[in-house]
Amino acid sequence: MDLSKPFGNRITSLTYKGKPVAPDDTFTMAINNYRQSGGGGYSMIQSAPVIKDTQTEIRQLLIDEVKQKGTLRVDDYFTPSWRIVRGAAAQVTGPRLRVISTNDFHGALVPGPDAQGVVRGGAAYVARAIETARAECTDECVSILVDGGDLFQGTAVSNLTYGRPVVEYYNKMRYDAVVVGNHEFDWGTDTLRARMRQSKFPYLGVNVRYTDGRDVPWIPNDTIIQRGKWKIGVIGFASIITASTTKSTNVTGLRFDAPAPIIDSVARVMRAKGADVIVAVEHDGGFCDRPATAGCSGEIFRIVGQIKEKIDLMVSGHSHSLVNTVVNGIPIVQARSSGRALAVVDIPLPPSGELSAMVREIGVDSMSPVAGVDSIVSRAVAMIGPKLNEKITTLPIDLPRSGSQYALGNIVADAFRWAGKADFGITNTAGVRAPLRAGPVTFAQLFEVQPFGNNLFRVQMRGFEFREYLERILGANSPGVHVSGFTVAYNPNGAAGSRVASIHLPEGRTLSDAAMYTVVINDFMLGNDPYAIRNKSMAVTPISFTDQEATIRYLRAQRLPLAIPVDARIVQVIE
Ligand SMILES: [Zn+2]
Repeated sequence: MDLSKPFGNRITSLTYKGKPVAPDDTFTMAINNYRQSGGGGYSMIQSAPVIKDTQTEIRQLLIDEVKQKGTLRVDDYFTPSWRIVRGAAAQVTGPRLRVISTNDFHGALVPGPDAQGVVRGGAAYVARAIETARAECTDECVSILVDGGDLFQGTAVSNLTYGRPVVEYYNKMRYDAVVVGNHEFDWGTDTLRARMRQSKFPYLGVNVRYTDGRDVPWIPNDTIIQRGKWKIGVIGFASIITASTTKSTNVTGLRFDAPAPIIDSVARVMRAKGADVIVAVEHDGGFCDRPATAGCSGEIFRIVGQIKEKIDLMVSGHSHSLVNTVVNGIPIVQARSSGRALAVVDIPLPPSGELSAMVREIGVDSMSPVAGVDSIVSRAVAMIGPKLNEKITTLPIDLPRSGSQYALGNIVADAFRWAGKADFGITNTAGVRAPLRAGPVTFAQLFEVQPFGNNLFRVQMRGFEFREYLERILGANSPGVHVSGFTVAYNPNGAAGSRVASIHLPEGRTLSDAAMYTVVINDFMLGNDPYAIRNKSMAVTPISFTDQEATIRYLRAQRLPLAIPVDARIVQVIE
């Protein structure tokens, strides 16, 4: 069946025992009395002759069957008898622009399981979905391919190669433009600019400025794409919260301005230059599928609500959500993340008629990979394979991430402290990204635990300053950190500045206000609130390896069987 075809023309092939059904074939069919009477819209069989009426209840048939078989085996019953085939999905006829978009690929070159365990995505399969969407765009249809940002960060194969194979893949797919996501800055602007040089497409960011307001020359603002006689204007926007969602030192000297007024002015300029269609691509997101809230909420909807000019499409990103809606007359799409979906929007040309927008899910079981992209992925995987499979340690138990305090977080904090030969280690819990299972643990698994490759820093502070620091980061909610080298009791309901009840050090020692202590934190914490080190007189010195390397080296250095630190180090005392 092809559900994109009109009613009455949807069956593309019908076979019986492997042979195509011919118009003059006759069959007998077992149905219930409701259907036989034409119920449920089956009037076409009302007039067919009844050749046998068993007068048996279906319930009884089932009971008899179970009794006779004894054991029911799925294979005896489940023979797939129908499937839905991909058809020409475009509802728009006549001249049209098809905008194909992805967002938040996060280096997901290899297919991987989603939260339900279904294997999805993978560059070669996204490529297939893109090729299919392009192949459907025929006759008077033209297409462009854009991405909403965050291309590289998140998997071993991408991170260990600093995103090179991701760009290879994007080049191969002939992306027309992408926007700079917050994670594009994770490896510093030098690496980002190296990836830009490798890319055959621009990284747009019209709202990225130097702090003095000047435009950043190496981040283009927009582009006009010519397709046949049509001019398509694409404007790209970085997330306004980029500075707090990557290491702040990587965006020093840059600012990220509010998009709406810029969209209006740039759209006017592009129309004046002859753009027939304006597509905005922005690395800000929102949610339409949160059960607790009606409608859509989030940054992108706020921004779109403020736009005054006519924009034909907003491609969103960053929130890894499924968005397909219209706000303020502007269609907005976002296609999940990590290659799990593809947005396909058909805009009539000139843009005045009916629009069609869909987000297509990408599951690998029903698709064939694109060979030319598959080879890019397997070459990248082969290059780092031996490293990925290296065994680092063996775990006696599972290490889940559940609750606000857990053993895996303690291990990471212990590794911080160990790496800096420091008194204390503190990690933000959000930096612990994946659980571990009992048994042998490989480099690849530890990589998923700490994919960001944050650098570590040793900070020197006096005891009273450390206490103040804990006051700040423990806050009013559940603790967002794991710690090492001390235990702390605090009252989350207490007044700000007086929540910490007690701090205990090993061997029964207590914190001395005047003594100097060393604390290891990562560079994300160093520059981002509430963890930021604001006191410029504190000595901050880098440790020569990343948080990932710290955990790996630390685990290698431990005796087996590994002692799992299940102790509660941050205790809430509710008063
Ligand atoms: Zn993002």
